[in-house]
Amino acid sequence: MGFFSYFTRIFHGHPSASKLFVICSLSSGGLIAHGDSPSEGGKSIVELNQKVPVKKRVVVLGTGWAGTSFLKDLDISSYDVQVVSPRNYFAFTPLLPSVTCGTVEARSIVEPVRNIIKKRNGEIKFWEAECLKIDPANKKVFCRSTIGENLAGNNEFSLEYDYLVIAIGAQVNTFNTPGVLEHCHFLKEVEDAQRIRRTVIDCFEKSVLPGLTEEERKTNLHFIIVGGGPTGVEFAAELHDFVHEDLVNVYPSVKDLVNITVIQSGDHILNSFDERISSFAEQKFQRDGIKVLTGHRVLSVSDRLINMRMKATGNDDSIPHGMVVWSTGVGTRPVVKDFMEQVGQGNRRVLATDEWLRVKGRDEVYALGDCATVDQKKIMEDISVIFKAADKDNSGTLTIEEFQDVIEDVTIRYPQVELYLKSKHLFDVADLLKDADGNDGVEVDIEGFKLALSHVDAQMKSLPATAQVAAQQGAYLSRCFNIWEKCKDNPEGPRKFKSGGRHEFRPFRYRHLGQFAPLGGEQAAAELPGDWVSMGHSTQWLWYSVYASKQVSWRTRVLVIGDWSRRYIFGRDSSRI
Ligand code: FAD
Ligand code: MG
Repeated sequence: MGFFSYFTRIFHGHPSASKLFVICSLSSGGLIAHGDSPSEGGKSIVELNQKVPVKKRVVVLGTGWAGTSFLKDLDISSYDVQVVSPRNYFAFTPLLPSVTCGTVEARSIVEPVRNIIKKRNGEIKFWEAECLKIDPANKKVFCRSTIGENLAGNNEFSLEYDYLVIAIGAQVNTFNTPGVLEHCHFLKEVEDAQRIRRTVIDCFEKSVLPGLTEEERKTNLHFIIVGGGPTGVEFAAELHDFVHEDLVNVYPSVKDLVNITVIQSGDHILNSFDERISSFAEQKFQRDGIKVLTGHRVLSVSDRLINMRMKATGNDDSIPHGMVVWSTGVGTRPVVKDFMEQVGQGNRRVLATDEWLRVKGRDEVYALGDCATVDQKKIMEDISVIFKAADKDNSGTLTIEEFQDVIEDVTIRYPQVELYLKSKHLFDVADLLKDADGNDGVEVDIEGFKLALSHVDAQMKSLPATAQVAAQQGAYLSRCFNIWEKCKDNPEGPRKFKSGGRHEFRPFRYRHLGQFAPLGGEQAAAELPGDWVSMGHSTQWLWYSVYASKQVSWRTRVLVIGDWSRRYIFGRDSSRI
């Protein structure tokens, strides 16, 4: 890397040097020409060799929240960027539940990747394909186009990288429950939402056909949602609104036969939210007639029945359904699983990165968003080296002053320290070293130091699989890439307690900006920073404004607001398209 960046720098400063080097590389058989770089059909060898990359090659997998947020601000003058994704658009997933009922249209929440690239002078290359395999030893990814087999040309290709950014998200998790793949709907992709919308209408059209018994009509109109997390709850609320605001008017004969049930394995729905929100949601659902079955585990699903076990009693029960939406968390994609095995993470559940989002053991591979988790270093693992580094006078004890010298680096490197202080209502890290009576000035030895920090690691939490985390990670990583050259000489990161020197960058730090749960009937609940909780109609307006402002382009913003207004004036459309 040193070699490469050295020459890169020379070339930037001396264009003639770059020409000379290109000539040398050509005459020496292509010293740094990359035979397997994406060959752009039909270009001559000379043309390809003239494109000897002086920029580092970055391959990005995925165009979701993490991938697009990374691309948005990346300084492309320093990198040669190629993006691979089977989806040539970015989808604003928080509005997917609204697509299931036609509150907003599918095309209003997507932004074509090529629009995003266009804004970057077309210098980012996009290939609509799926990455099938990552080969970290040879720094290559193998891809296959998902575009119709009948079109001319090969579907498979490989790309070489200097840096790889894996942002391919996660897939639905069925927990190997029999029948789920065959008989349930998922709500993960835009196509899923469109399929749900059609199926809801199918259920209604089927239920009004002549010759059905009342029981059959009721079965067709029983909508079951498995999973009481934010997605499941929001979908249940959307569906309730769709049925009661629009469908009852067009299918009046069956309006009393509709049932919506949410099955949740835990004791409450929305259990990742504040308790007040989860009980508000439960009460609202009860008033709306949405049945919530908590403490139930689904055993299997068939085309007609859903079988479950009540955890408390161990009793099994089956209920007939017209449609089941499975929304119970996410799992690892096969290509990531295979990669994990290659990099020695085969026994883990999720791909682990360090706090700089680098895959552990592979410094040139980054993983962000739902496909990875940040493995925060425990302070207790490094406690002795921190103590040694802080004990400047080698006295075997730490004074408050000695500790204060390392405090900043410690809190940057181990964010759990700040969380611990907050939980204990302490305002200064030095308070940790105060004696039982609150006096400072005491010196602590290594045992005392260990004791003072012994509960800090309990504050470590893994980050949730949300768009907020993914987007912040993408933005963080592009900033690191952009300031890399500068940080090589002037590192901005915290001190390396073990090996000396400093980290080039500050570690990734997640800032939680709050979360929403739309509950239907123009009501929503929100958890805002600083432990604020807000619920009701005004929160729904806050939700509208936040989601309008968060749209990735003015085009989608106008489309989404237009859809909300259309729904308000004309209601939702019940055509089965
Ligand atoms: P994704 O956004 O899923 O993007 C993954 C990308 O990788 C996609 O472009 C995909 O096509 C591509 N890809 C897949 N396989 C391959 C492959 N083999 N090779 C190359 N590319 C591949 N989060 C919130 O913070 N707030 C919300 O309100 C919210 N609501 C949600 C509602 C729903 C219905 C859903 C499903 C999710 C919601 N989330 C929400 C979660 C949020 O969508 C995810 O956490 C976020 O999408 C993760 O971003 P990502 O970039 O890791 O993955
Ligand atoms: Mg000392």
